[in-house]
Amino acid sequence: MTTECSCCGGDVYRHDPVFTLEEREFRRVETGAFCNYACLSAHIDEECLADGDACEIDYD
Ligand SMILES: [Zn+2]
Repeated sequence: MTTECSCCGGDVYRHDPVFTLEEREFRRVETGAFCNYACLSAHIDEECLADGDACEIDYD
């Protein structure tokens, strides 16, 4: 069984896999698989997922 990395398309099980989950209708659904945190981080940077979508943080 192989699971492709959402970032680079490689087989995550050849590395140190990290998975992302979202809660949808009270169920946890796997939304992404990554080789490692580096691929997850690169994916976030590319998709600009952090822009305007982060939880509210008070920067003061
Ligand atoms: Zn990857």
